[in-house]
Amino acid sequence: MTATPIYRRVLLKASGEALMGEQGFGIDVSVVDRIAGDIAEARALGVEVGVVIGGGNIFRGVAVASKGGDRVTGDHMGMLATVINSLALRTSLVKMGVDAVVLSAIAMPEICESFSQRQATAYMDAGKVVIFAGGTGNPFFTTDSAAALRAAEIGANALFKGTQVDGVYSEDPKKNRNATRYDRISHEDVLKRGLSIMDTAAIALARENHIPIIVYSIHEKGGFGDILKGKGHCTVVAD
Ligand code: UDP
Repeated sequence: MTATPIYRRVLLKASGEALMGEQGFGIDVSVVDRIAGDIAEARALGVEVGVVIGGGNIFRGVAVASKGGDRVTGDHMGMLATVINSLALRTSLVKMGVDAVVLSAIAMPEICESFSQRQATAYMDAGKVVIFAGGTGNPFFTTDSAAALRAAEIGANALFKGTQVDGVYSEDPKKNRNATRYDRISHEDVLKRGLSIMDTAAIALARENHIPIIVYSIHEKGGFGDILKGKGHCTVVAD
């Protein structure tokens, strides 16, 4: 018997770095396939899934700005990087028989459809995985903010933030082995304590819209599905 999922509609945010595996740059297709497999499992549970992927495995605007270049152009390059990653994920999903579509915040009709809230929700209602590419479409933002924004627009019951570790810790657990992990923490406390799970704008937007943020390890195969079934390791950020 299939377990009833605890959320009906979710938005998954994965950083671009999650796609590069051990390579240090670019896209490792076997890693993308694994993440696509986790999304396929969520779909099999009946969960409607939207996805935002970052671009940090390819390009970040600050890299240009820090060398005296033009930040806005750098951010445009970063947003284009998210489109490349989104196309890679769609390819993996389609390959495994999951219906998926890329909607971009920046129009590029020869490559993918443009984002509109109406079209996105229509596709999700129809059971398609919707991959939101191009971030917010604006420079000076991040894909974390794009994820919180899209989560609010599609009425997601939860925003899943796939990270390197299995939840929110009092300190970086890779630097301090005695750091404590929270099972649950409020958006307010995350902001007050400056816990760096997502950027401030993203957390504030999620808080205003009463969207819980589920922080979990993107590297744990099956972790996404386990949490949707009400088990698994994560921290729930909720008021
Ligand atoms: N970006 C942007 N506006 C957005 C989202 C992203 O300008 O709304 C640019 C920005 O340069 C950013 C890059 O795209 O550094 C990649 O996104 P991000 O750094 O959020 O990717 P991640 O760290 O999640 O891989």
